Amino acid sequence: MTDWITAAAALKPETRLFINGEFRSARDGATFDSFSPRDGRLLCTVSAAGEADVDAAVRAAAHAFESGVWSRADRRERARVLARLSDLMLENLDELALLESIDSGHPIGDARRVDVPQAARTVRWYAEAIDKIYDEIAPTPQTALALITREPLGVVGAVVPWNYPLIITAWKIAPALAAGNSVVLKPAELTSLSALKLAQLAAEAGIPAGVFNVVPGLGPVAGQALGRHPLVNKITFTGSPAVGRGFLTYSGESNGKQVALELGGKSAQVVLADTEDLAACAEAVAWGIFYNAGQTCHGGSRLIVDERVHDELVDRVVTVGRSLVLGDPLDEATQIGTIASAKQLERVLEYTDIARAEGAVVHGGNRVRPEGLASGYYVEPTVFDGVDNAGRIGQEEIFGPALAVTSVRGAAEAVRVANESEYGLAASLWTGSITTAHAAARMLRAGTVWVNTFDASDIITPFGGFKNSGSGRDRSLHAFDAYTALKTTWINVGAPQLSND
Ligand code: NAP
Ligand code: MG
Repeated sequence: MTDWITAAAALKPETRLFINGEFRSARDGATFDSFSPRDGRLLCTVSAAGEADVDAAVRAAAHAFESGVWSRADRRERARVLARLSDLMLENLDELALLESIDSGHPIGDARRVDVPQAARTVRWYAEAIDKIYDEIAPTPQTALALITREPLGVVGAVVPWNYPLIITAWKIAPALAAGNSVVLKPAELTSLSALKLAQLAAEAGIPAGVFNVVPGLGPVAGQALGRHPLVNKITFTGSPAVGRGFLTYSGESNGKQVALELGGKSAQVVLADTEDLAACAEAVAWGIFYNAGQTCHGGSRLIVDERVHDELVDRVVTVGRSLVLGDPLDEATQIGTIASAKQLERVLEYTDIARAEGAVVHGGNRVRPEGLASGYYVEPTVFDGVDNAGRIGQEEIFGPALAVTSVRGAAEAVRVANESEYGLAASLWTGSITTAHAAARMLRAGTVWVNTFDASDIITPFGGFKNSGSGRDRSLHAFDAYTALKTTWINVGAPQLSND
C-alpha cells in the first residue's frame, strides 16, 4: 500500500500563475498562503493574480481565440488534444489525487476513485462529442441557403469553488474548450493546486499557448477582475449565491457578458411511508449528506420523512453515520475527510450550536480529532431531528455533515415541505409506488430529482438549479449550448435552375 503521507511530503506543487503557456509569478509578486485542512499546516504559498495578471491572461486568451489556432482548428484536432489531456490526467492520477486530497481534505481513496477519474472522463467525453454534433439548415425559399451554425463565444472565464475543485473545473473547461473557446480559470483560493497541475498537463497535451490560462488569486481581486473584463464573453460560476449575484453586477457594469450561475442548495431527501427497502434508503440518505463531509452543493441536507417510518429510518441513518470512518484524508481507510477550512469549520459549528440550543441534535454535532493529528478540521456525522423546516436549520445552507430531519404525513405534505426552500438544486424521493413517484417528481422544484436513489449521476445528464440555486446547466450535450452562440449565414444562391451551357 502506498504511503500517502510520505508521498504528500515529497510533492512539489506548481504555485505560479499559468498565462499564455507559461508559468510566472504575479506582476507585483503577491502571494497567498495555502493550508492543508488535514492538519492546518502551511502547504505552500501561491502566486496571487492581480488585475494586471488577469488582464494579461484575458488578452492572451482573446489573442489565441482570434488567431484561430484552436477556435478554428479541425474538430478532430481539438478532440485529439483533449483526449490526450484526459489520458495524461489518468497517467498522473496519483499526483493529481494527492494534490486534491491535501488541498481540499477529500479522502485519498475518493480522490483516486472519484475526483480524478470523473474529471478525466468529462474531458474525454466532450472530446469525443464534438465531431458528432451537426448544425442546421433553415427552410428558406429555394433562392437561398441559410446555415444555422454554432460558434464558440470567445473568452470564457470560469470561477470555481473549493468543494470539488477538479470535477467542477472539468465540467466547465471541457465543453468550453471542446467548442473552441479560450478559457481563463480562477480556482478557489483554498484549492488552487490541482488546477495548476491541470495547466501543466494541458500544455503537455498540446493545448496552444493562451487557450487555457489559470489565475489563482483572491475572489474580490482576481475573480472580480475577470468578471469585469471587457474582453471576457462569458462567466461560468459555481459558488455561493451572494458572489454569484456579484458576477451579474460585474457584467451589467462592464460589457453585459453572459453569466451562468450554479449556486448552493438545501436539497430534500423525501421518504414516504410506502418505501420498500428502508435499509437501502438509510444508506443513501446518510451518504447523500455525509459524503465529502457534507460539502456538496446538492448534498441531501434535509430529510423530509413520513412520521410512520420516521423512527426506524432515523435510527438506521444514525447507525450508518456511526459506522463511517472519519479520519486522516491520507489514510486509504478514511471515508469522511475534513471540512475544507477553519472558516468553514466555524460556520458548521455555529449551526450545530443553534441546533443544540433547540434540543435538535440526536447524533454527532462535534469537532473531533482523529488519532495522530494535532489539528485539522473534522466534524462527526451529525443528525438534527424535529427540525422546523421554516427555521434557520431548515432553510440555510450549512455545507457540512449535518442532516436536518422534519416529519410529515403523506406525499402531498412531503412535497409541499420539500418545495418550501429558496433553493432548488436537487431532491430525492423514496416510494414503492410508480404513480406517486411520477407525480411527485414532476412537482418537486429541483434541477435533479432522484427516485429511490441519491446522487446517481454521470456526465451524460445536465446538472444545475431552479430558484436561488442558479441559472446555468453543466454537463451533458446541453453544455455546448452554454459555450456557443448561434450564427445565421444566409446565402443568396439565385434561382434554382440549370442550364446546358
Ligand atoms: P464563493 O465564496 O462564492 O467562492 C466561489 C468562487 O468565487 C471562488 O473562486 C472565490 O474565490 C470567488 N469569489 C469570492 N468572492 C468573490 C468576489 N467578490 N468576486 C469575484 N469572485 C469571488 O463560494 P465558496 O465558499 O468557495 O463555495 C461554497 C459555496 O458554493 C456554497 O454555498 C455551495 O453551495 C456553493 N456551491 C455550489 C455548487 C453548485 O454546483 N451549485 C457547487 C459547489 C459549491 P476565493 O476562493 O478566493 O474566495
Ligand atoms: Mg488549501
